[in-house]
Amino acid sequence: MTKKVMVIGAGVAGLASAIRLQHAGYTVEIVEKEALPGGKMNRIEKDGYQFDLGPTIVMMPELYKEIFELCGRDPDDYIPMEKLDPMYRVYFGDKVDQPYDISSDLTTLMQTIEGISEEDAEGFLDYLKEIYKRFTIAKKYFIQRPFRKQTDFFNPFMLKQAMKLKTLDNADHFLDKYIKNEHLKQMISFQTLYIGVSPYNGPSLYTMIPMIEFLYGIWFIKGGMHTMATAMERLFLELGGSIQYNTTVEEIAIENGVAKGIYLDGHKREADFVVCNADFPFAMKNLVKNTEAKGKYTDKKIDSMKYSCSCFLMYLGMDRKYEEVEHVHNFVFNENLDQNLHDIFAGNKLEDASFYIHIASKMDPSLAPEGKDGLYILMPVSDLSTANYEWNDETIQYYRNSILQAMKRIKGFETIDQEIVSETYMTPKDFAAKFNAYNGACFGLQPTLSQSNHMRPQSKATHCDNLYFTGSSTHPGAGVPIVLLSAKIAVQELLHDDKEILFDYY
Ligand SMILES: Cc1cc2nc3c(=O)[nH]c(=O)nc-3n(C[C@H](O)[C@H](O)[C@H](O)COP(=O)(O)OP(=O)(O)OC[C@H]3O[C@@H](n4cnc5c(N)ncnc54)[C@H](O)[C@@H]3O)c2cc1C
Repeated sequence: MTKKVMVIGAGVAGLASAIRLQHAGYTVEIVEKEALPGGKMNRIEKDGYQFDLGPTIVMMPELYKEIFELCGRDPDDYIPMEKLDPMYRVYFGDKVDQPYDISSDLTTLMQTIEGISEEDAEGFLDYLKEIYKRFTIAKKYFIQRPFRKQTDFFNPFMLKQAMKLKTLDNADHFLDKYIKNEHLKQMISFQTLYIGVSPYNGPSLYTMIPMIEFLYGIWFIKGGMHTMATAMERLFLELGGSIQYNTTVEEIAIENGVAKGIYLDGHKREADFVVCNADFPFAMKNLVKNTEAKGKYTDKKIDSMKYSCSCFLMYLGMDRKYEEVEHVHNFVFNENLDQNLHDIFAGNKLEDASFYIHIASKMDPSLAPEGKDGLYILMPVSDLSTANYEWNDETIQYYRNSILQAMKRIKGFETIDQEIVSETYMTPKDFAAKFNAYNGACFGLQPTLSQSNHMRPQSKATHCDNLYFTGSSTHPGAGVPIVLLSAKIAVQELLHDDKEILFDYY
């Protein structure tokens, strides 16, 4: 008889783990509290408009494809993709009429950089070279492997590699060495927000995110990101797996230090292994009730950890198309981005916030009624444990109006407030309630130095056998491609324990 695995949660990492395990010969069942697959990669459908709820930017497409290729499928049959060029447009509040288009074609990109600052062009290339070196080390030795025991990190070889990563510097400080122009520097540092950490606090290594954009590009999946979730669900069902939606797991059944299944409605559902995709801090606090099994992750420890920022989102159905706005991805930075970043991580209510506008219906018109566009607008905000203000209707209206006011200064959006026909919001409270994101933090535990690599929660539970964690709060961290790696690591850990398969991580 094949062994049974229960997977808690059909987020990206839950689906990817389930596919890998089903493919490896296990009988896998996913239990998901929401009605759709994808977790934060969910879909909002309203008044004929369809929006991705969370992720929109596809980086490292090879990792998206890997899961389909592993199962002998052609990824193009599941997630047809198109490369975007230019990748995005960046507006600065003090020069809103002179935006920059950012290309992943190096020739075009260099012309843009030289146009911003001749002096910094050489520094830009030096930055690329330095971070590329670190990226190859991180990819080879850190982000694709677990740190199961202390000696997996604390050994001469790994310590030598860690030194090469030069993680002690923060992103902002690191860029200071190469680039003087403030706008250019901001264009290469804001991407740490993709994983919910400030460039002033995030290790300089995370400036590899813009480097990956510049050198490898970004992509659009037909139908938007949610296509990846439905495609993984389809593949999992084709492989013979099963999913139960609208069902909340109450507890992980743990007996004598071994996970034995899960509890649903007070009834135990038995399994040989449990893979938990529910956010690690939430799961440790609420689903692992056995104190010994928590190991060092006591409730006190969970609350003392640092959480990534959250997001306020507006999904607007518009009564027209925005031909004058040419790009699918648009970043709008206010005059005082530094203050803005400080306020997000200090918990202050934001003034003149910076935000991101995504218009997926430009790439795929079927996502909005004919002749109309849908606007997805994201503003990074404090997580619930940091915010020193309440999320209520007043806060929503305050942010809504301040965003619309700022947008009206952008060519093409001058009359935006009169063109809205449908409106939906997501707040940090909604992320907590819908997906059990601890503190409503959109990217899980903040990837500070002391919460990265061997110091981030690992996949294999330290004090309970047959229990594995996967997802953004575990190593290697947040972002769709990175949680796909976390799923791969979780499955390798399970296979290592069950079948004594040894994976070579050097
Ligand atoms: C607004 C936003 C924008 C983003 N933009 C990007 C982007 O452009 N590109 C990118 O690569 N990444 C982006 N990200 C990050 C990316 O979306 C996440 O890192 C990734 O989707 C997280 O996947 P996950 O599997 O770890 O967790 P989740 O998506 O949180 O999945 C966990 C699942 O577990 C379920 N669950 C929780 N508790 C239970 C329970 N008790 N019982 C049953 N089910 C349970 C939840 O409902 C959920 O479905 C963005 C995230 C957000 C929020």
